[in-house]
Amino acid sequence: GATIGILGGGQLGRMLSVAAARLGFKTCIFEPQGDCPASHVSNFHYQADYSDTDALTAFAQACDVVTFEFENIPTDALDVIEAITPIHPNRKALATSQDRLLEKNFLTRIGLKTAPFSAVKTASDLQSAIDRIGTPAILKTRTLGYDGKGQARLHSDDDAEAALAAMNGAPAVLEGFIDFSHEISVIGTRAADGAISCFDPGENLHRNGILHSTTVPARLSPAQRTDAVLLTANILNALEYVGTMGVELFVTGSGLIVNEIAPRVHNSGHWTQAGCTIDQFEQHIRAIAGWPLGDGSRHSNVVMENLIGADIDRVPEIAKTNAALHLYGKADAKPGRKMGHTNTVTGPAK
Ligand code: ATP
Ligand code: MG
Ligand code: MG
Repeated sequence: GATIGILGGGQLGRMLSVAAARLGFKTCIFEPQGDCPASHVSNFHYQADYSDTDALTAFAQACDVVTFEFENIPTDALDVIEAITPIHPNRKALATSQDRLLEKNFLTRIGLKTAPFSAVKTASDLQSAIDRIGTPAILKTRTLGYDGKGQARLHSDDDAEAALAAMNGAPAVLEGFIDFSHEISVIGTRAADGAISCFDPGENLHRNGILHSTTVPARLSPAQRTDAVLLTANILNALEYVGTMGVELFVTGSGLIVNEIAPRVHNSGHWTQAGCTIDQFEQHIRAIAGWPLGDGSRHSNVVMENLIGADIDRVPEIAKTNAALHLYGKADAKPGRKMGHTNTVTGPAK
């Protein structure tokens, strides 16, 4: 059978590998770390650095198609792989979502609403951004941020200096603070032939900048639900995307605002494992393998909760409940580290 290559060996790579194995594929991960979540469940592990051209070449030659579970893959590594084996989602999707400024410019260009934003490198950039956007606002590094890292909040103009210092010299973008009622996300998949299937939007709750839970159904009017799905399809088409994507949205009185997009399976889509016949991981594998998409309609109401850091100590208690447990096989339960998640079915879909 064919072999699917996955760049990155974390929990997303692990769950992609399991989905691929269920469809009869072999998986091959590329990940510098030895004992990583995906290495426990995939067939082959190229354990090397992203600068190791020989290892990248051997990895690409071993795979029929390559995908990724994180967006910060060095461009040079992608060049080496793509000369040998196709990569899905494509480079454009990756480049756009690696950089918050490019991402917001792209979203604006295709007619979607984002928070007001302005590029910031220097103190004077920041001052003119504040003059235009006002406070409260959030300064975010353009690249490499996740789980709320690389962000500083400005409650007033007085916070400007400290916020800029927190960027450590990295190029940043200032975003106006959105007064949202709640946060949702749409997980959508586009197949190679352009077919699109979006999962029902989920409602997301963050704690300390990290996703805490996703609940389906989200609190949305039928019109808002339609908007959320249509704008996701708009993004997927504009990027000629193949695979699964996560689109994070703020729900406001004046419509949906796009927070950010992730060119991969997404933590807020883990509920699909319990709520749908075909989950986000299988949809992704189907798409990148050139298969038709499966039935992603929602049959159940679900609450997904992340197990972060010491939450893992609650597993013996959780195991006695009717929650489905997904543990990532990480040895070290550092604070803020995603160790696993639970999916609890709360009733039939309605
Ligand atoms: P992720 O782990 O989702 O990639 P991240 O580090 O990229 O997170 P963001 O999604 O940009 O961070 O922000 C994290 C959270 O902070 C958001 O889900 C939201 O709750 C809040 N937030 C971010 N930007 C804004 C904004 N402009 N206005 C209001 N709240 C915001
Ligand atoms: Mg992000
Ligand atoms: Mg986010």
